[in-house]
Amino acid sequence: MSKDESPKNIIVGGKKADFTSILVHRLRNPLTETKWTLSALLSGDYGILNEEQEKSLKKCYGGNDIAISMVNDLLNLDRLKANNTEYNDSPVKIAGLVETIISGFSARAKHKNISLTFDRKTDTGETVYSNPEKIRAILENLLENAINYSLVGDPIEVGLVSSPQEVTVTVKDKGIGIPEAEQKNIFTEFYRATNAIRHERSGAGLGLYIVKKIAEGQGGKVWFESQEGKGTTFFFTIPTNKAVS
Ligand code: ADP
Repeated sequence: MSKDESPKNIIVGGKKADFTSILVHRLRNPLTETKWTLSALLSGDYGILNEEQEKSLKKCYGGNDIAISMVNDLLNLDRLKANNTEYNDSPVKIAGLVETIISGFSARAKHKNISLTFDRKTDTGETVYSNPEKIRAILENLLENAINYSLVGDPIEVGLVSSPQEVTVTVKDKGIGIPEAEQKNIFTEFYRATNAIRHERSGAGLGLYIVKKIAEGQGGKVWFESQEGKGTTFFFTIPTNKAVS
Protein backbone atom coordinates (compact mmCIF):
# COMPACT_ATOMS: atom_id res chain seq x y z
CA MET A 1 0.00 0.00 0.00
CA SER A 2 1.44 3.40 -0.92
CA LYS A 3 1.72 6.07 1.76
CA ASP A 4 -1.22 8.05 0.27
CA GLU A 5 -3.54 5.05 0.48
CA SER A 6 -2.76 4.40 4.11
CA PRO A 7 -5.93 4.38 6.29
CA LYS A 8 -4.23 6.94 8.54
CA ASN A 9 -4.36 9.56 5.79
CA ILE A 10 -7.60 10.95 4.40
CA ILE A 11 -8.36 13.84 2.09
CA VAL A 12 -10.12 16.86 3.57
CA GLY A 13 -10.88 19.96 1.49
CA GLY A 14 -8.31 18.86 -1.06
CA LYS A 15 -5.58 18.53 1.56
CA LYS A 16 -4.17 15.38 3.07
CA ALA A 17 -4.63 15.35 6.81
CA ASP A 18 -3.73 12.89 9.52
CA PHE A 19 -6.76 10.97 10.84
CA THR A 20 -5.80 11.61 14.47
CA SER A 21 -5.60 15.37 13.94
CA ILE A 22 -9.07 15.38 12.37
CA LEU A 23 -10.46 13.54 15.37
CA VAL A 24 -8.75 15.96 17.74
CA HIS A 25 -10.15 18.86 15.76
CA ARG A 26 -13.66 17.40 15.94
CA LEU A 27 -13.36 16.99 19.70
CA ARG A 28 -13.09 20.74 20.16
CA ASN A 29 -16.72 21.54 19.23
CA PRO A 30 -18.50 19.20 21.66
CA LEU A 31 -16.07 20.22 24.40
CA THR A 32 -16.72 23.91 23.77
CA GLU A 33 -20.48 23.32 23.70
CA THR A 34 -20.23 21.48 27.01
CA LYS A 35 -18.30 24.43 28.41
CA TRP A 36 -21.05 26.93 27.51
CA THR A 37 -23.82 24.66 28.78
CA LEU A 38 -22.02 24.13 32.09
CA SER A 39 -21.37 27.83 32.31
CA ALA A 40 -25.08 28.61 31.77
CA LEU A 41 -26.05 26.02 34.38
CA LEU A 42 -23.55 27.48 36.85
CA SER A 43 -24.80 31.02 36.37
CA GLY A 44 -28.33 29.88 37.23
CA ASP A 45 -29.85 30.19 33.75
CA TYR A 46 -31.74 26.90 34.24
CA GLY A 47 -32.67 27.48 37.87
CA ILE A 48 -30.98 27.96 41.20
CA LEU A 49 -28.52 25.21 42.17
CA ASN A 50 -28.04 23.78 45.61
CA GLU A 51 -24.52 23.70 47.08
CA GLU A 52 -23.87 20.08 46.15
CA GLN A 53 -25.02 20.54 42.54
CA GLU A 54 -22.88 23.66 42.19
CA LYS A 55 -19.81 21.87 43.57
CA SER A 56 -20.20 18.94 41.15
CA LEU A 57 -20.80 21.20 38.17
CA LYS A 58 -17.71 23.28 39.01
CA LYS A 59 -15.68 20.06 39.00
CA CYS A 60 -17.08 19.16 35.56
CA TYR A 61 -16.35 22.68 34.31
CA GLY A 62 -12.72 22.44 35.47
CA GLY A 63 -12.25 18.98 33.94
CA ASN A 64 -13.76 20.12 30.65
CA ASP A 65 -11.43 23.13 30.58
CA ILE A 66 -8.44 20.82 30.99
CA ALA A 67 -9.68 18.66 28.09
CA ILE A 68 -10.06 21.80 25.90
CA SER A 69 -6.55 22.87 26.78
CA MET A 70 -5.14 19.43 25.83
CA VAL A 71 -6.99 19.50 22.52
CA ASN A 72 -5.55 22.96 21.85
CA ASP A 73 -2.03 21.70 22.68
CA LEU A 74 -2.43 18.82 20.21
CA LEU A 75 -3.78 21.14 17.51
CA ASN A 76 -0.91 23.58 17.97
CA LEU A 77 1.59 20.75 17.80
CA ASP A 78 -0.03 19.51 14.64
CA ARG A 79 0.07 22.96 13.03
CA LEU A 80 3.74 23.26 13.91
CA LYS A 81 4.57 19.92 12.35
CA ALA A 82 2.58 20.72 9.22
CA ASN A 83 4.51 24.00 8.82
CA ASN A 84 1.17 25.56 8.00
CA THR A 85 1.18 28.61 5.73
CA GLU A 86 -1.55 30.18 7.91
CA TYR A 87 1.39 30.76 10.23
CA ASN A 88 3.17 33.18 7.90
CA ASP A 89 4.64 36.22 9.65
CA SER A 90 3.85 39.89 9.08
CA PRO A 91 3.81 43.06 11.24
CA VAL A 92 1.40 42.67 14.19
CA LYS A 93 0.25 45.38 16.63
CA ILE A 94 1.19 43.76 19.88
CA ALA A 95 -0.44 45.70 22.74
CA GLY A 96 -4.02 45.36 21.47
CA LEU A 97 -3.54 41.65 20.73
CA VAL A 98 -2.16 40.96 24.22
CA GLU A 99 -5.11 42.85 25.73
CA THR A 100 -7.62 40.79 23.70
CA ILE A 101 -5.97 37.50 24.68
CA ILE A 102 -5.96 38.48 28.37
CA SER A 103 -9.65 39.44 28.24
CA GLY A 104 -10.43 35.88 27.07
CA PHE A 105 -9.17 34.67 30.46
CA SER A 106 -11.12 37.06 32.69
CA ALA A 107 -13.93 34.57 33.46
CA ARG A 108 -11.49 31.80 34.35
CA ALA A 109 -9.44 34.14 36.56
CA LYS A 110 -12.60 35.42 38.28
CA HIS A 111 -13.65 31.83 38.91
CA LYS A 112 -10.52 31.46 41.09
CA ASN A 113 -10.76 34.98 42.52
CA ILE A 114 -7.55 35.94 40.71
CA SER A 115 -6.91 39.54 39.64
CA LEU A 116 -5.46 39.45 36.13
CA THR A 117 -3.87 42.77 35.17
CA PHE A 118 -1.96 44.13 32.20
CA ASP A 119 0.95 46.50 32.79
CA ARG A 120 1.85 47.79 29.35
CA LYS A 121 5.02 49.86 28.95
CA THR A 122 4.70 50.47 25.23
CA ASP A 123 2.64 52.75 23.03
CA THR A 124 -0.32 51.21 21.23
CA GLY A 125 1.28 51.46 17.78
CA GLU A 126 4.20 49.11 18.61
CA THR A 127 4.50 46.27 16.08
CA VAL A 128 6.34 42.94 16.11
CA TYR A 129 7.13 40.67 13.18
CA SER A 130 5.07 37.57 13.88
CA ASN A 131 1.62 36.06 13.45
CA PRO A 132 -1.34 36.64 15.82
CA GLU A 133 -2.00 32.87 16.06
CA LYS A 134 1.57 32.19 17.18
CA ILE A 135 1.44 34.91 19.83
CA ARG A 136 -1.96 33.62 20.94
CA ALA A 137 -0.67 30.03 21.25
CA ILE A 138 2.28 31.18 23.40
CA LEU A 139 0.43 33.61 25.64
CA GLU A 140 -2.62 31.36 26.14
CA ASN A 141 -0.39 28.52 27.30
CA LEU A 142 1.45 30.77 29.77
CA LEU A 143 -1.80 32.27 31.11
CA GLU A 144 -3.42 28.86 31.46
CA ASN A 145 -0.42 27.64 33.45
CA ALA A 146 -0.33 30.78 35.59
CA ILE A 147 -4.01 30.28 36.51
CA ASN A 148 -3.72 26.49 36.96
CA TYR A 149 -0.66 26.72 39.18
CA SER A 150 -1.90 29.62 41.33
CA LEU A 151 -3.95 29.27 44.48
CA VAL A 152 -7.33 30.96 44.93
CA GLY A 153 -6.84 34.73 45.27
CA ASP A 154 -3.23 34.89 43.97
CA PRO A 155 -2.75 37.81 41.53
CA ILE A 156 -1.34 37.46 37.99
CA GLU A 157 0.30 40.32 36.13
CA VAL A 158 1.10 40.47 32.41
CA GLY A 159 3.74 42.97 31.31
CA LEU A 160 5.00 44.31 27.99
CA VAL A 161 8.36 46.04 27.49
CA SER A 162 9.73 47.09 24.12
CA SER A 163 13.15 47.87 22.68
CA PRO A 164 14.01 48.66 19.04
CA GLN A 165 14.89 44.98 18.40
CA GLU A 166 12.21 43.11 20.31
CA VAL A 167 9.19 43.16 22.57
CA THR A 168 9.30 41.16 25.81
CA VAL A 169 6.06 39.83 27.27
CA THR A 170 6.02 38.65 30.89
CA VAL A 171 3.48 36.58 32.82
CA LYS A 172 4.04 36.79 36.57
CA ASP A 173 2.22 34.66 39.11
CA LYS A 174 2.50 34.06 42.85
CA GLY A 175 1.56 30.39 42.62
CA ILE A 176 3.19 27.09 43.55
CA GLY A 177 6.48 27.77 41.69
CA ILE A 178 8.83 25.21 40.12
CA PRO A 179 11.25 23.19 42.33
CA GLU A 180 14.83 24.21 41.55
CA ALA A 181 16.01 20.66 40.82
CA GLU A 182 13.29 20.24 38.17
CA GLN A 183 13.63 23.59 36.41
CA LYS A 184 16.02 22.22 33.76
CA ASN A 185 13.35 19.76 32.53
CA ILE A 186 10.42 22.11 32.24
CA PHE A 187 10.51 22.65 28.44
CA THR A 188 10.86 18.92 27.74
CA GLU A 189 7.93 17.21 25.98
CA PHE A 190 5.53 15.58 28.53
CA TYR A 191 7.51 16.72 31.59
CA ARG A 192 5.49 17.80 34.64
CA ALA A 193 7.09 18.83 37.94
CA THR A 194 6.25 16.81 41.07
CA ASN A 195 4.53 19.72 42.85
CA ALA A 196 2.41 20.43 39.73
CA ILE A 197 1.21 16.81 39.62
CA ARG A 198 0.25 17.03 43.31
CA HIS A 199 -1.57 20.34 42.73
CA GLU A 200 -3.35 19.47 39.47
CA ARG A 201 -3.47 15.82 38.48
CA SER A 202 -4.42 16.40 34.84
CA GLY A 203 -2.08 17.99 32.33
CA ALA A 204 -0.23 16.81 29.25
CA GLY A 205 3.13 18.48 29.79
CA LEU A 206 3.05 19.62 26.16
CA GLY A 207 2.29 23.34 26.48
CA LEU A 208 5.76 24.68 27.25
CA TYR A 209 7.40 22.41 24.67
CA ILE A 210 5.12 24.03 22.06
CA VAL A 211 5.69 27.53 23.45
CA LYS A 212 9.47 27.12 23.09
CA LYS A 213 9.21 25.75 19.53
CA ILE A 214 7.00 28.64 18.41
CA ALA A 215 9.00 31.36 20.20
CA GLU A 216 12.35 30.14 18.86
CA GLY A 217 10.88 29.43 15.42
CA GLN A 218 10.20 33.13 14.99
CA GLY A 219 13.63 34.23 16.25
CA GLY A 220 12.57 34.86 19.86
CA LYS A 221 13.39 33.33 23.25
CA VAL A 222 11.48 32.02 26.24
CA TRP A 223 12.69 31.57 29.81
CA PHE A 224 11.49 31.82 33.40
CA GLU A 225 12.44 32.65 36.97
CA SER A 226 10.78 30.66 39.71
CA GLN A 227 10.89 29.85 43.39
CA GLU A 228 8.93 26.97 44.81
CA GLY A 229 6.05 28.22 46.94
CA LYS A 230 6.63 31.85 45.92
CA GLY A 231 5.71 32.05 42.23
CA THR A 232 6.94 32.06 38.66
CA THR A 233 7.56 34.65 35.95
CA PHE A 234 7.70 33.56 32.33
CA PHE A 235 9.29 35.84 29.71
CA PHE A 236 9.15 35.59 25.93
CA THR A 237 10.52 37.86 23.23
CA ILE A 238 9.24 38.59 19.74
CA PRO A 239 11.50 40.35 17.22
CA THR A 240 10.26 43.67 15.85
CA ASN A 241 11.77 42.98 12.42
CA LYS A 242 11.86 40.04 10.07
CA ALA A 243 14.74 37.73 11.07
CA VAL A 244 17.56 37.89 8.51
CA SER A 245 18.41 34.34 7.50
P1 ADP B 1 1.06 21.05 31.82
O1 ADP B 1 0.69 22.37 32.42
O2 ADP B 1 0.00 20.45 30.96
O3 ADP B 1 1.58 20.09 32.84
P2 ADP B 1 3.22 22.50 30.43
O4 ADP B 1 4.14 22.00 29.36
O5 ADP B 1 2.41 23.71 30.12
O6 ADP B 1 2.30 21.27 30.80
O7 ADP B 1 4.09 22.78 31.70
C1 ADP B 1 5.07 21.84 32.10
C2 ADP B 1 5.28 21.92 33.59
O8 ADP B 1 5.91 23.16 33.93
C3 ADP B 1 4.03 21.89 34.44
O9 ADP B 1 3.53 20.58 34.62
C4 ADP B 1 4.52 22.50 35.73
O10 ADP B 1 5.29 21.55 36.45
C5 ADP B 1 5.49 23.58 35.24
N1 ADP B 1 4.87 24.91 35.14
C6 ADP B 1 4.57 25.56 34.00
N2 ADP B 1 4.07 26.78 34.27
C7 ADP B 1 4.08 26.91 35.61
C8 ADP B 1 3.71 27.95 36.52
N3 ADP B 1 3.24 29.12 36.09
N4 ADP B 1 3.87 27.73 37.85
C9 ADP B 1 4.37 26.55 38.30
N5 ADP B 1 4.73 25.53 37.50
C10 ADP B 1 4.60 25.71 36.17
